[in-house]
Amino acid sequence: MDYKGRQKRLREVLSKHHLDVLLITHGPNVRYLCGFTGSAGVLVLSESRTVFFTDGRYTAQARSEVEGAKLMVGRKAPLVLASEWLKANLRKLAGSGKCRLGIEAEHITVAARSRLAESLPSRFLLREAPALVEQARMIKQPEELQLIQEAGLLGASLFDSALKAIRPGVKEAEVAAEMEYAARKAGAENMAFETIIASGERSALPHGRASSAAIPAQGFVVCDFGVILTGYCSDMTRTVHVGHVRPAARVLYEAVREAQQAALHAIRPGVSAGEIDHWARKALQKKGFGRFFTHSTGHGVGLEVHEAPRIGAGQKEVLQPGMVITIEPGAYIPGQFGVRIEDMAVVTDTGCEILTPTTKELIAI
Ligand code: ZN
Ligand code: ZN
Repeated sequence: MDYKGRQKRLREVLSKHHLDVLLITHGPNVRYLCGFTGSAGVLVLSESRTVFFTDGRYTAQARSEVEGAKLMVGRKAPLVLASEWLKANLRKLAGSGKCRLGIEAEHITVAARSRLAESLPSRFLLREAPALVEQARMIKQPEELQLIQEAGLLGASLFDSALKAIRPGVKEAEVAAEMEYAARKAGAENMAFETIIASGERSALPHGRASSAAIPAQGFVVCDFGVILTGYCSDMTRTVHVGHVRPAARVLYEAVREAQQAALHAIRPGVSAGEIDHWARKALQKKGFGRFFTHSTGHGVGLEVHEAPRIGAGQKEVLQPGMVITIEPGAYIPGQFGVRIEDMAVVTDTGCEILTPTTKELIAI
């Protein structure tokens, strides 16, 4: 991975945001910038330096993983090590002036921020930095796209395990277990999130995690699942039906499918995230299901399963080639049933390419 290039691009925007140093504490951001995959690591990035701090448990791992940064291992917590280093290097960082230190406001606890402020001399000015690394991460590089594509294909293959396992009387958790076993066997590092298997009335719960409920003789089963492969996440949803499909169920399914298609069709560079959301919402409204679509249309996917951009109403972020997003409209009729269909897609120069190529025809089991 091109860690030095990523650091260089981040450096270029630091001064634009009136920052001398950025303190990176969010694990996926640390990984993005220097390759470290452990849980305790902090990166300090200034105009001329990149320094990575970790504790003794990670000595060997940091040595083999971290690239493009000076490695500092100590007996204290990484954030303490970083603050001591900042103090000792104040002159190099800011001469005799003030040092504007950006922190990741979304990813640092109030307690950690207080400790940091107390430990640093008053010449350090703590600033809440905008989500600079997250913004850079939105546009995937070719090597990242390759990995996301592989994760998407592995994730999509789990749908076959779901189809084999879904039968009336089988517990939702058993279906999830079959999928997760297949994922591990196929090389996944982990699931990207808790597998959702929501059957019968539970299909109307947008976040119905696989429970001990048995799949009923008739009704929808929403399957939302994803894996982590080489650090990158996949995320997709298919909704299948068990038993006889009532006309009302088919109508809902086709409405969600059309909404998903409408949003996918609208993807191209220059279109805002809010517009994509609008197309999905409008399609469901036209069919009378607008008020049952209770969440946003999608989100970015990469090192994290939910990352920028958010594909929701009013979101101004403009789509650009290399962004990887999900399109996942759903409609949930409380007490009855629900449907969601989700794909991962990469924005291309002219539209998008779907990374989760699995049929969206309604499958009746
Ligand atoms: Zn999902
Ligand atoms: Zn999703």
